[in-house]
Amino acid sequence: MSHTLIIGAGITGAALAYQLFRRGQMATIVSTHAEGGLASAASFGWLNASYFLSHPHYHLRHQGLAAHRRLTAQLSGLQTTWLGCVWYESSGDAQAETAADLRALGYTVEMLTRAQIAAKLPALGPVPETALSFPEEGVADPAILARALIAASGAKVIRATVQALTNDHGRTTGVLTDLGPLTADRVILATGTGTPALLHPLGFDLPMLKRPGLMLTTTALPPICPVVLATPEQEVRQDAEGRLHAPASAVHQADHAESLGSFPVVINATLQRLRTLFPGQDIHFGRQAMALRPVPGDGLPVVGQGPVPGLWLAVMHSGATLAPVVAELLVDEITGGPASPLLTDFRPARFQ
Ligand SMILES: Cc1cc2nc3c(=O)[nH]c(=O)nc-3n(C[C@H](O)[C@H](O)[C@H](O)COP(=O)(O)OP(=O)(O)OC[C@H]3O[C@@H](n4cnc5c(N)ncnc54)[C@H](O)[C@@H]3O)c2cc1C
Repeated sequence: MSHTLIIGAGITGAALAYQLFRRGQMATIVSTHAEGGLASAASFGWLNASYFLSHPHYHLRHQGLAAHRRLTAQLSGLQTTWLGCVWYESSGDAQAETAADLRALGYTVEMLTRAQIAAKLPALGPVPETALSFPEEGVADPAILARALIAASGAKVIRATVQALTNDHGRTTGVLTDLGPLTADRVILATGTGTPALLHPLGFDLPMLKRPGLMLTTTALPPICPVVLATPEQEVRQDAEGRLHAPASAVHQADHAESLGSFPVVINATLQRLRTLFPGQDIHFGRQAMALRPVPGDGLPVVGQGPVPGLWLAVMHSGATLAPVVAELLVDEITGGPASPLLTDFRPARFQ
């Protein structure tokens, strides 16, 4: 049986460990941060294909939703929920165009009238004329899901930082950590924003954008937001305990800001927008989480064979949506299956 070292214990590393386990393969996870990762622990966790950068990106994201549904069928007790999304980040012709584009790709899109929106979201203050409904979409907390997948995989987790990859005769044979060396038949980097530093000594400069993300969680409220709500000013969802989760930047997946500004100012502005969205509700700060989002230079995932044999890469933004399908496809390929056409546009070699 071959042995794989997965570096990173976020949703990507966890999904890879689980898929290797399903194929009877042994994996060890090495991670600086505990099970649940780094960006994964600060994520909004919106599972969607309505946001995409290219048609191949859409198709991979759409398959991501299907892969999440497979996980839910395989493992009992996962907290993934399929609330659907009510979306009016744009209006008028632009909204109609979004609906037409998504329908042409095969996505389920419903157009909601003002009365239908008000009926779905009675606590909503300003109700728009129309909105789109994406009933296929859902929510998973990537850190919670990562812990569940690692537990199900039975993978051993070593809390250590990888300082370098070790190579022999042009092949990756393991890693050097702050606790000492580890060897394996192959190494997969699921290291998010930590990836460029590990690839640089191999002469591979993976561009990584600087995209900080701040997530606000409120104290618990009565049920007021039964869907993922995406407005021009604010995206928000409510968890089973009643807490609202809100990225501090509007339209957060496409947010290009390289800095966040003063945390108290940004948090207060987010709370204010939530209070406008749901007037009369007692909305208070609960906690905040910040992480750099792992956004490769062109915004798209980086998945496949690394610059030397024995080394594989799985690095991506929108990993909450994408990690389960990327793990299925990459593990298929690593274990001798065919390379999936779904991954063609996302190969590491485009940066070499
Ligand atoms: C604010 C915010 C909102 C988001 N919202 C969404 C969303 O709504 N929908 C969506 O699909 N995605 C969203 N994302 C993106 C998504 O959360 C990430 O793409 C995903 O969590 C990445 O997971 P990962 O496991 O690849 O990386 P991470 O969770 O960052 O994990 C990386 C792991 O690698 C380890 N590591 C790194 N370097 C080393 C090293 N040298 N040695 C050992 N270990 C190392 C770290 O310790 C960590 O465990 C959001 C992200 C943020 C920050």
